[in-house]
Amino acid sequence: MQREELVKALSPDTDPAPYFDLADKVRRETVGDGVHLRGLVEFSNYCSRRCYYCGIRAGNPKVRRYRLTPEEILACARTAVQLNYKTVVMQSGEDPYLSARSLAAIVERVKTETGLAITLSVGEHSAEDYRMLRAAGADRFLLRFETSDRKLFTMLKPDSDYDNRFRCLAWLKDAGFQVGSGVMAGLPGQSLESLADDLLLFKRLDLDMVGIGPFIANPDTPLAGAVSGTLDAALRMVALTRILTKNAHIPATTAMGSIDPQGRQKALRCGANVLMPNISPTEHRVDYSLYPGKICTGEAPEQCAGCVDAMLGALGRERAEGFGHSMKTV
Ligand code: SAH
Repeated sequence: MQREELVKALSPDTDPAPYFDLADKVRRETVGDGVHLRGLVEFSNYCSRRCYYCGIRAGNPKVRRYRLTPEEILACARTAVQLNYKTVVMQSGEDPYLSARSLAAIVERVKTETGLAITLSVGEHSAEDYRMLRAAGADRFLLRFETSDRKLFTMLKPDSDYDNRFRCLAWLKDAGFQVGSGVMAGLPGQSLESLADDLLLFKRLDLDMVGIGPFIANPDTPLAGAVSGTLDAALRMVALTRILTKNAHIPATTAMGSIDPQGRQKALRCGANVLMPNISPTEHRVDYSLYPGKICTGEAPEQCAGCVDAMLGALGRERAEGFGHSMKTV
C-alpha cells in the first residue's frame, strides 16, 4: 500500500470494515488464532523527562513516586509464572536512580530464577547499556517513536532528540533485541499523512512488535484539555499495521481498553495478537497513571488474568503456546 492509499484508509470518511476484515484474515494466516499474554510490571514511575502527553513526567507534583525493589520485581515475575504467562514486560519511566548496571542485575535474576522471556521498556540509553541489558538476559525491547513527525515529536518530547530515538532503535537491533516500537494515534496536530508515514516507517524498520494506542489527554500535563484520540483511529492503525507488516506482534493495548470497554476486543478482531495484562502490585497501579481512566488500577494480577482469559473465550481465541518470540527471527 502506498502513502495515498493509507491516508484514504485512515480517513474517517472511509468505511474501515474492509480493512478490518483483511487485517483479521492476515493475522489468522500469519500469526494464527493464539494470543500471547505478556505480564506487565510497571516497576518505577520516576522519570527525568517531561513528555507533554505523559502523566508521570518529571515535575508533575501530583505523582506519588515509587520504585519497586529488586525483590518486589522478582515477586511480580513469579506471579507471572504462576499465571502461566511466558513473558514479563518491565516498564518504567526514565528513572535516573536505576543505572543500566543495576537494571541488568535485576534482569539477570529474573531470567535465572524464572526462565521467562523478558521485555524491557525503559526508554533511551546508550548502545553500550543496551548491549549490557541484552547480555544480562533481556530478549526484547519496546521503544515507541511516538510519532514520525519531527516537529510534533520535538514539541511533545522537549528533552529528547528525534534522531536519537531512531538511533536507539538501531542500537537495540544491533544488540540483538527483538525490537518493538509504535505511536500514539490522535496526538494534537497529528495529520493523517503523518500517521501514514508512521505506518510506512513500521514497515521500513522491519519491527518485531508494534504497539499503538490512542492519545488520551491527561489533565495534569501541558496537554490538559487537548482533544483525545479516538478508538476508531487507533483501530485503523492496528489493521493497517497488520496488513503492512504481516507477522509483527501487535498488542491490543491498555489505552484502547481505557477509552472503550470493548477496545481491546475490537483490536484483537482487526489485527492484534497480543495482550499485556498488568501484574504490577495493586497498591502502586494508580500511581502509574500515564493517562486518566486507565483500566485495571484496582485489580490484582489474578483478576486481570481471569478477565483476559474470559475475553479470549468470548472471542473464540485462546492463549498462544510458547514464548511468543518474534516471528521474524524464528
Ligand atoms: N519511559 C518509557 C516507557 C513509556 S510508557 C519510554 O519512554 O519508552 C509507554 C507508552 O505510553 C509511551 O511510549 C506512550 O506512547 C504511552 N503514553 C504515555 N502517555 C500517554 C497518554 N497520555 N495517552 C496515551 N498513551 C500514552
